[in-house]
Amino acid sequence: MGIASINPATGETVKTFEPLNEAQVQAKLQRAADTFKIYRHTSFESRAEMMAKAANILETEKLDLGKIMTLEMGKPLKAAIAEAEKCAWVCRYYADNAKHHLADQVVETNAKRSYVRFQPLGPVLAVMPWNFPFWQVFRFAAPASMAGNVGLLKHASNVPQCALAIEDIFRRSGFQEGVFQTLLIGSDAVEEILNDPRVVAATLTGSEPAGRSVAGTAGKQIKKTVLELGGSDPFIVMPSADLDKAVEIAIKARTINNGQSCIAAKRFIVASSIYDDFAAKFVEGMKSLHLGDPMQDSTDIGPLATPQILDDLAEQVQEAVNSGARVLTGGRKLDRPGNYYEATVLDNIDLRTPVSCEEIFGPVAMLFRAANIDEAISIANMTSFGLGSAAWTNDTAEQQRFIQELEAGSVFINGMVASDPRLPFGGVKNSGYGRELAEYGIREFVNIKTIWIGE
Ligand code: NAP
Repeated sequence: MGIASINPATGETVKTFEPLNEAQVQAKLQRAADTFKIYRHTSFESRAEMMAKAANILETEKLDLGKIMTLEMGKPLKAAIAEAEKCAWVCRYYADNAKHHLADQVVETNAKRSYVRFQPLGPVLAVMPWNFPFWQVFRFAAPASMAGNVGLLKHASNVPQCALAIEDIFRRSGFQEGVFQTLLIGSDAVEEILNDPRVVAATLTGSEPAGRSVAGTAGKQIKKTVLELGGSDPFIVMPSADLDKAVEIAIKARTINNGQSCIAAKRFIVASSIYDDFAAKFVEGMKSLHLGDPMQDSTDIGPLATPQILDDLAEQVQEAVNSGARVLTGGRKLDRPGNYYEATVLDNIDLRTPVSCEEIFGPVAMLFRAANIDEAISIANMTSFGLGSAAWTNDTAEQQRFIQELEAGSVFINGMVASDPRLPFGGVKNSGYGRELAEYGIREFVNIKTIWIGE
């Protein structure tokens, strides 16, 4: 795949980009290494001032930035604007808190004085996905650069204008050119960059195969990685839950970002006694969503990001149907230009089929019936992923069981999984390792240095 903006709503190629050549990549790596030597000594105050400026730009220009996101990957414009606002939030959060997160920590030992100091590592390569084309980048870049690192962004090949716009925001905020650079390169160029000694660590948000590849290369070089990979999040509804509220949030949790979110609820596991009620209301709600032009305010679900994602989704639905699943609504591509797929609900899914626990990237929900809480937890954990999870119940004993037993990086009770700069974000199992956001995220790319001073 070349590097290009292709409007998912029409299929039209808007702009193409030449990937950087070898000499251009080398120049950017050298600039990153040179800049780090200076930038690492800047004060938290000066970094925070620039980061706050970035937040202001994101807020002031959210409409124009939102239009670039929507044009390149198809999310509804209102969601793209909200994404720019959320990026401003994470910039401000780290501008305000980085100094505190990374302050020396005194530890009482037998030394005269001992403490922990946090120091930046150097140039970090960030391999990022298209689905939240600003948010994924800022949630890495804001903490990493507030900690004194410099970043090299290899963004997904279908969002080059987003990648360039983010680089431009850093420059206009006053950061030196080498603090944050976009590399317009294909994924085949990643290995060589990771092998370069000037790059000291990597973070990847994306699919499991991409994570395995990047972690494999980095592992051979003994370089730190953070992996934020896919998910097949369960959304469990028990009899004591507020059913109408659970249905309303379930629909949102499945269709947010046109269904292409790593933490979207993908498997709805509902207690038998309320299953039919839940299914009827859920199907009714999914049917009422408006599928169409993502630039329009009335649109709930826009097109999928690429024709490949559309084909993969249609194939997964077909696979489920071939093994006995029922289509309660939807189940078809739209016969019009653009990568449109109907909001779809499947039930009667055979738990032995791979699709029952795979990641489904699009507005397709799978419903499962659970006889009791044991079965609900067992179905929920029946996946190689472990990103987020949600459970709806007003029974406090049940709440504690879900908190304790769900194999996931987060458990949201009576809510939908969402990221928040103040809370750590990440997964277990094949959803990856490491954490972003909060003080955990800013401590991923630092040398946690032990200082021991004797008498
Ligand atoms: P993807 O195909 O894995 O691509 C992600 C990034 O990795 C892109 O920049 C891609 O570049 C690059 N890449 C792909 N294969 C690579 C390889 N072998 N070596 C090095 N780089 C490689 O994923 P996507 O389709 O963009 O995004 C969807 C996936 O991301 C889903 O699985 C979703 O769940 C996951 N995701 C996870 C989180 C999280 O926080 N856990 C958040 C958002 C998304 P090219 O575009 O040039 O191929």
